[in-house]
Amino acid sequence: MLVPSSTRRSVAATAIALFVFAAGATYTVQPGDTLSDIANENGTTATALARENKLSNPNRIYVGQQLVIPGAATSAGVASSSAHTVKSGESLSTIAAKYGMTTEALAQANGITNTNVIYVGTRLSLSGEPIDFTPGSGSAGSHTVTTGETLGKIAAAYGTTIDTLVELNSMTNPDLIRVGQILAVPGGGFICPVPGGSFFNDYGFPRSGGRFHEGIDLFAASGTEVVAPVSGRVEFKIGSIGGMQFNLYGDDGATYIGSHMDSFGASGYVAAGTAIGTVGDSGNAVGSRPHVHFEVHPEDGPAVNPYPYLEKACK
Ligand SMILES: [Zn+2]
Repeated sequence: MLVPSSTRRSVAATAIALFVFAAGATYTVQPGDTLSDIANENGTTATALARENKLSNPNRIYVGQQLVIPGAATSAGVASSSAHTVKSGESLSTIAAKYGMTTEALAQANGITNTNVIYVGTRLSLSGEPIDFTPGSGSAGSHTVTTGETLGKIAAAYGTTIDTLVELNSMTNPDLIRVGQILAVPGGGFICPVPGGSFFNDYGFPRSGGRFHEGIDLFAASGTEVVAPVSGRVEFKIGSIGGMQFNLYGDDGATYIGSHMDSFGASGYVAAGTAIGTVGDSGNAVGSRPHVHFEVHPEDGPAVNPYPYLEKACK
């Protein structure tokens, strides 16, 4: 493992500690679970789970049963090519070589932008197929009307037309705009959801119960504004794990999730950059360093690592 600076050292040490804890990971069967569900969620197979736990009948598991998650996904003794958990002493290139991949393909498939930095315990996807997704495409940004502006002037400034602005803002009278009014404008792109926040590539880090971290944690002082990264429809949820959480159904087709907030902001349809809450420690993050756990699910599918987008947007 290569660690570029002393500031990363404590983070890396945490990852190692978590890995040691997770090495003998067990999973407690929940109501509704099937062995194959549990296998899928933990990067293994039902066969491997049954063998590891000496289950004579894989169809018979019971709620509360403790299952040991095998370290590597195996099927009939052959290493599976679905995921790999980083071990001490490994580098991205040695892992890539092991699975007949290029270092670049492995990095891309996992949202790793610096191939010299990987953390022990991180689960890497070996699918080798980076998803074709551009966050913020078709997203609308926002513009606050200032003194002397007309809709025509604003349209020109954003390289668009009055008609587009009228439609985007469901306006009935294009001559009627007021100072301070927030208008949706084209070209919002992907905006940093926690401006000024700090983060690193902690996607894929081990979590309790054999789970893995499917997002990036954006750390900032409690009360720091959280903004919609793209335009779309915002809904709020409150849960014991995510605490105060936003679900943003983006105009780019992706679902964005942010949890552990301390307050909610605007909901319904919002432009990119609209304040939708504040950073906190709600849910199962109570008492931890305030942050927003941020996930991106393109086309409502599985989570992908948003690190490359965040690295660009959160400068
Ligand atoms: Zn998180």
